[in-house]
Amino acid sequence: MEITFLGTGTSQGIPIIGSNHPVCLSENPKDKRLRVSVLVKTHDLTIVIDCGPDFRQQMLANKVDRVDAILYTHEHSDHTIGLDDIRPYFFKQGDIPVFAHQRVMNSLRKRFDYIFASENKYPGAPSVREHVIENKPFKFKDVHIMPVNAMHNRLQVFGFRIGDFAYLTDVKTIEEEEAKKLKGVDVLVVNALRIEAHHSHFNLEEALEFIEKINPKRAYLTHISHMLGFHDEVQASLPKNIFLAYDNLKINLDA
Ligand SMILES: [Zn+2]
Repeated sequence: MEITFLGTGTSQGIPIIGSNHPVCLSENPKDKRLRVSVLVKTHDLTIVIDCGPDFRQQMLANKVDRVDAILYTHEHSDHTIGLDDIRPYFFKQGDIPVFAHQRVMNSLRKRFDYIFASENKYPGAPSVREHVIENKPFKFKDVHIMPVNAMHNRLQVFGFRIGDFAYLTDVKTIEEEEAKKLKGVDVLVVNALRIEAHHSHFNLEEALEFIEKINPKRAYLTHISHMLGFHDEVQASLPKNIFLAYDNLKINLDA
């Protein structure tokens, strides 16, 4: 399995438009963060988790010539608003399978009514194949996917465990029973917004506590704000098996 971090930034990305914050002005490529998304290659399939405003740029940067499915964590714009840019994949492959909670699917149907239209569809509009998911394991072709329920303040979000890889973003709280689904993972990705507390995201301290509890072999932090600090400085402060993810980072897992 190969994982590519397509984007690792919080909702506005880094740099923020017009910001003079030192992290936004940093010339280190690791301090430039597109909106969060991750590409999972496994069983000869290419699966994208979330499809935000930087989707097109992310697919170009990583030369992704095929998308077999999109999984959605939740409906916020930084995770969904790039859906129109599946058009090149749709033209080559046909309807693109999307997996989402019913509530998220309803939100996509509202925002992208022309994609979901069944009558008088504009000829250039893409189409998707809807798969509504609940909090129970499902299969996409040969890939077993385990949703993990968590809360983004009061909004339900899904994380996903695929084999020994788990990806959770926009999490503030998670119940014991759900956290148990993550036991034994090799790689855990989890959000860490900044140093200070936030109402709907783990801050760094909460993310580190959560990682300690799950005890994966390696953990990567994502959905990062400029307020977390410079990549190199934050990385130097972390325990040895915990890494700040950065855009276009690739990691490999055995299974
Ligand atoms: Zn987000």
